[in-house]
Amino acid sequence: MSHFAALSKLLGPESALISDLDITTSYSRDQAPFAFSAPPIAVLLARSATEISIALKYANENKIPVVTRGAGSGLSGGANASADSLVISLEKMNQIIEIDAANQIARVQAGVINLDLDTAASKLGLAYLPDPASRDWSSLGGNAATNAGGMCCVKYGVTSAHVRAMQVVLASGEIIELGKATKKSVTTYDLLHLFIGSEGTLGVITELTLNLEIRPAAPSTLVATFPNITKAASAAAALLQYRPSMLEIVDQTTLKAVEAWHPLGFEVAGAVLLMQLDENHSLAEAALKTCKEFGLIDGVYSDDPNDAADLIRVRKMAYPALERMGATLLDDVALPITEIAQFVEKVEELSKRSNLVIGIFGHAGDGNMHPTIVHDHGDTAAAERAQKAFSDIVEIAQSLGGSASGEHGIGSIKAGFVANEISATVIELQRAVKKVFDPNSILNPGKKIP
Ligand SMILES: Cc1cc2nc3c(=O)[nH]c(=O)nc-3n(C[C@H](O)[C@H](O)[C@H](O)COP(=O)(O)OP(=O)(O)OC[C@H]3O[C@@H](n4cnc5c(N)ncnc54)[C@H](O)[C@@H]3O)c2cc1C
Repeated sequence: MSHFAALSKLLGPESALISDLDITTSYSRDQAPFAFSAPPIAVLLARSATEISIALKYANENKIPVVTRGAGSGLSGGANASADSLVISLEKMNQIIEIDAANQIARVQAGVINLDLDTAASKLGLAYLPDPASRDWSSLGGNAATNAGGMCCVKYGVTSAHVRAMQVVLASGEIIELGKATKKSVTTYDLLHLFIGSEGTLGVITELTLNLEIRPAAPSTLVATFPNITKAASAAAALLQYRPSMLEIVDQTTLKAVEAWHPLGFEVAGAVLLMQLDENHSLAEAALKTCKEFGLIDGVYSDDPNDAADLIRVRKMAYPALERMGATLLDDVALPITEIAQFVEKVEELSKRSNLVIGIFGHAGDGNMHPTIVHDHGDTAAAERAQKAFSDIVEIAQSLGGSASGEHGIGSIKAGFVANEISATVIELQRAVKKVFDPNSILNPGKKIP
């Protein structure tokens, strides 16, 4: 009997186990442009932890690779399938089980879309704060599995700071609970946080208990233009003293791309910093003064929410504007904030040396930069140079004390860089941890750890 037939029998006629090639192809990859993928044997649109448990038990006994998929918005090939694999999609497990306003928590199935939870919480004056730019279509399970960040994370912390507990199905099929719904608990080793950022390699997250916060006040928004991105990056480190709830950077190349697409009236003389203050609006004036110490060309701020939406639109349009110019490779590296200026100088040199357009933008306040390499569609020589530049950018970041990924994950495209920043002993420890949870290495094999 084929694996598909055997699994269908175990799961029963009500299950959505699909082998149609058009459908398996559409579930075979995420948004990473150059990672390997192939249509899997089948896709299970799971509806319960029990179904996932049955599928994993069978896969484990038969050593079938399993790729867990949230919404497939990932940028590291983490949800990419291979021809011998089973994809388990969580998209149908999209129920908000409970919002407990008194305890400021929500219990959700892992397939709930980030924005849907925040919208539901907002009706009670609460907020789910982690705000990846993909929040209107990425899943909370995927956010936890990649430890997603976002614009407000400079103040409120990335996903890991907002998860209290989770339900996980192990490779063996056993269903376990990790963490506690309480705000504090130090009773056990912190296995909960081991799963956050584990990119589908340790188990399938089926349910999450998440922090909700009192909804922050509408922010004051400040836009400051500097002669170049190096000066803007230096200013960013100084602006952290104001506890911004957003601190983003956009370089001149990206600004020009946005202005060419949708003119927003930005000065394209240099680079901009976008900053929000959601508590102490009166600090905006002081922040502008600080910017002057770094060669500020022009600065404005506004407390009006409509102005704020206009002012930050440039950041939201940064990536799509570069995408309009050609094929793109969006990189993601983390740096000490004090090294951003040096990092961008080196990336600008790389851009000239490799004859490639590289737009630089990112979460300056977190030191998380997204240099985006652009080349002409169909130009294979330029595509090769772009892939090399993608690697060079990671190595530049690592040489400055940075990390290969800040938020998109290692997936199937960056495992080769991991050994540059951790010792052989730590790699062995990671392999040992993986073996405890997944002795047959069926969960996303070959991803995350080298
Ligand atoms: C335009 C755009 C903007 C983006 N902006 C941001 C941003 O600002 N910040 C940011 O951090 N990321 C960003 N991303 C990347 C991506 O949206 C995030 O990584 C997101 O967290 C992935 O969620 P997903 O549900 O789409 O997961 P998927 O892409 O489906 O999966 C991502 C990884 O998580 C694993 N996984 C998914 N669900 C589960 C689960 N339930 N249990 C176990 N493992 C699971 C998968 O196996 C895979 O390894 C962006 C992507 C795009 C396309």
